[in-house]
Amino acid sequence: MPILGRRLAAITAALAMSVTTGALVSPASAHSGSSDDNTKKMPTATGYGGAVSTVDVDASAAAIEVLRKGGNAVDAAVAAAATLGVTEPYSAGIGGGGYFVYYDAKSKKVHTIDGRETAPAAMPTDAFIKPGTAEAFAFKKQATSGISVGVPGTAATWERALKRWGSLSLADVLDPAIDVATDGFVVDETFRQQTLENKDRFLPFEATRELFLPGADNDAPAVGSTFKNKDLAQTYRLLAKEGMDAFYEDELADEIAKTVRNAPSSLDPMVPVPGPAGVMTTEDLDDYKVLDQKPTHVDYRGYDVYGMAPSSSGGTTVGEALNILETFGLPALKDDKAKVLHHYLEASALAFADRAKYLGDPAFVDVPVKQLLDPVFGKERACEIDPLHAAEKPVPAGDVADYNGACDVEPAALSDEKDSENINTTNLTVSDKWGNVVEYTLTIEQTGGSGIVVPGRGFILNNELTDFSPVYSETDPNRIQPGKRPRSSMSPTIVLKDDEPFLALGSPGGSTIITTVLQTLINRIDLGMSIEKALAAPRASQRNTANVTAEQAFIDAEYGQELASKYGHKFAAAGDPGTSAAEIGAATAIEFLNDNKVRAVAEPVRRGGGSAMVVKPSH
Ligand code: GLU
Repeated sequence: MPILGRRLAAITAALAMSVTTGALVSPASAHSGSSDDNTKKMPTATGYGGAVSTVDVDASAAAIEVLRKGGNAVDAAVAAAATLGVTEPYSAGIGGGGYFVYYDAKSKKVHTIDGRETAPAAMPTDAFIKPGTAEAFAFKKQATSGISVGVPGTAATWERALKRWGSLSLADVLDPAIDVATDGFVVDETFRQQTLENKDRFLPFEATRELFLPGADNDAPAVGSTFKNKDLAQTYRLLAKEGMDAFYEDELADEIAKTVRNAPSSLDPMVPVPGPAGVMTTEDLDDYKVLDQKPTHVDYRGYDVYGMAPSSSGGTTVGEALNILETFGLPALKDDKAKVLHHYLEASALAFADRAKYLGDPAFVDVPVKQLLDPVFGKERACEIDPLHAAEKPVPAGDVADYNGACDVEPAALSDEKDSENINTTNLTVSDKWGNVVEYTLTIEQTGGSGIVVPGRGFILNNELTDFSPVYSETDPNRIQPGKRPRSSMSPTIVLKDDEPFLALGSPGGSTIITTVLQTLINRIDLGMSIEKALAAPRASQRNTANVTAEQAFIDAEYGQELASKYGHKFAAAGDPGTSAAEIGAATAIEFLNDNKVRAVAEPVRRGGGSAMVVKPSH
């Protein structure tokens, strides 16, 4: 079956336009379509032979096409990611980085690749500070700048994943994405909206303006129009032909470094954008390396939970929170949802206190991964939870140098988490007929990244370096250092039961990624919800701040009211009401059922709904 989806809709739209004197009648929709499964966004798909879940119908269709061709989960994951670079260019692409987690069915082992961006060798420690002050620029100015661009890791991640575990060539897996970039996709409301929200950030950069604001008066592409990215198709073709050295060496590398260094810039705090110019060189690109990393691991009530080790804080923070929660036997409290969620919120706050104190790039700072994931440490941290009342936030970090699991330890110094991470990124989950599984989160950080398109190349550069703490402090594990990876929250997670995959999941959402993954695990494992309900349920995120950030539906639910009135949790509605930011995360998951049957699950509503597909559907 050929790949369809938004691309098919684009072709249909083009035909409609050619016979209707240019006027767009009945614009083809990305979200509705023919009876073919691959043209529709379906949040759940059950069946055999491999599966995928992403936020986008074209990306999911690309993965299915590759699986049907005989490719494995790794091939299909790269195909989906490359397609997301076309259809979700503001969330992810080769201008960014990410974390790739892989379960190998043959060896029954989980492996990971750290494809996080790095700071250039000449990165100044005061990169985001207003000249002559000790204060950081406004976040938007930091983010819209050459100085925020980290050396991208995504191209190297694809190459490494394919080399270690893939079965098809880079050219084969880039093929569907090249088609989508060439034929175009139909612009939907989300794409137009994201473009408009970024208009002032995109305008200073000529190549960005030309690509994403092509209309009269620099209007964003209209809903229903076809968006083609021929430059990106050409870039993918180059990589398909030459391999990823073409990204990190030679002409393209030269252009990336020049674009970063010569990007329009301003040090005047009164000019809202752009911010400072970058310092990246071709040597920085040439020196970039992805890292093969051991995953983090905790045993949560008989489930083996594998996650991403530092430089992401995802694996340790989710893992520590689970160790804390293990102490409480949540399933016994299952009928008292508010009580279970109270423990979830409190455990999360404690794990975030430790994240703020201890987490950074382990190549530069000592990260006590073993201690943070030690069940004895978790047990001692659990002592801090009052089963009846929410603690005052921020709660202090624990002391990894001195613990014994007993409930009489003085906490270490207070540590708060100021959160400047943004809420966009993308996540995908893929499995194949051999039982291999990929969980992959990738990002260019902020929606629209740095706003800087590499001229003629069709992709946006990240602003990942804003994930460093902007103000330098010697005691901060996430302080800016040249060559370092900024701390991430990305939490691609694979859960095994008796050495077999049980569940794979992940989400975008800055530091709420951690709580989205944690809450979904609690919903599924402890509250016994089905995976589709666990994922769709209203979300709340306690990251050691005075207020719990929560979706309105969580605040309004009976348990939400009880958490406020009985336990004393204070809620703040996520984002601005009425905007998509009022949502937390956009998760994807696959659950592994009996007899090789799988259920792929995407968001039914958040971000306009995601797309789950299987190779052979069944009921
Ligand atoms: N930059 C974030 C991180 O690495 C991800 C951005 C997001 O999800 O919005 O944790």
